[in-house]
Amino acid sequence: MNPFKQWAGAFAGMLLVMSGAAGARPSEKMELPDWSKTPVQDRDLGHGVHMLESFGGNIGVLAGEQGVLLIDAEWPQLHNKVLAAVAKISKQPIRYLVNTHWHWDHVGGDGLFGKAGVVIFSSEQTRDYIEKAQAAKSSPPGSPYAPDPAAVPVVTVNNGVKFHLSGQTVEIVHVPPAHTNGDLIVHFVEADVIQTGDTFFHGFYPDIDQPHGGTIDGMIALYDTLYKMSGPNTKIIPGHGPVANREDVREYQGMLREVRYRVAKAVAAGMTEEQLVASHPLDDLDKKWGGNLIKQPYLLGIVYEELKDRQKAH
Ligand SMILES: [Zn+2]
Repeated sequence: MNPFKQWAGAFAGMLLVMSGAAGARPSEKMELPDWSKTPVQDRDLGHGVHMLESFGGNIGVLAGEQGVLLIDAEWPQLHNKVLAAVAKISKQPIRYLVNTHWHWDHVGGDGLFGKAGVVIFSSEQTRDYIEKAQAAKSSPPGSPYAPDPAAVPVVTVNNGVKFHLSGQTVEIVHVPPAHTNGDLIVHFVEADVIQTGDTFFHGFYPDIDQPHGGTIDGMIALYDTLYKMSGPNTKIIPGHGPVANREDVREYQGMLREVRYRVAKAVAAGMTEEQLVASHPLDDLDKKWGGNLIKQPYLLGIVYEELKDRQKAH
């Protein structure tokens, strides 16, 4: 157990409150916004690709004469605003939806899309986690993971799949474990856009869902892959935060390497998690990366526990 997780007030916390799924994290409350005052904003990235930015995970949109493909589904409370934003981009129907991973702020709208006949794609792991979270029956109707067959992905992706829509190619790649073990990243080839899901947050510390196969070393390694996939003009849609480029990814990797190095040093020196947190080892990094949803004690806690567990295994 990580006593600091309650401070996160963020993604990992809400998971348990809503789903009761993982069992490993203490119950936490997240401040939800006034949905009626929460806008869904459209960023036009060219070639029919848009990013919709709001309270939950960023949505990728590919619009063309063969219909609309969405990447991620937002909170159900924002569904009508998402539909309205998409309708401004295209008059064509939404036909396909890809879930980058299983977290509620990326799949919460699945059931509403599914009922409307949208075909939902995910990794095997993501489908499995959604099914298990639904089976726990701890989510009230209308919330993510409420029992609903329409919210379960119908097509699962093992290694990858390609969409060929409206003259454009969209590659969906199942990457090695990073944020979870079921992460899909998306490459809009002609548009030169990459969507990362929560493997990358732009501008603030990451979250890593270790109970579902996430790992800090996988996160750090994935940034090499993202960098190599990107050119100097590639636009990167992060899980959360504004549009980024490959230099942002490189800088983020440097930050996370530094975090890992400092925590590993503390583990090797035999520090307890409480001692580590009390020593404020990330205060310098906080200035740039600590000002959003993920705070220093939470990040230290999850990285410490992962490295400590690995030490025990040896
Ligand atoms: Zn996530």
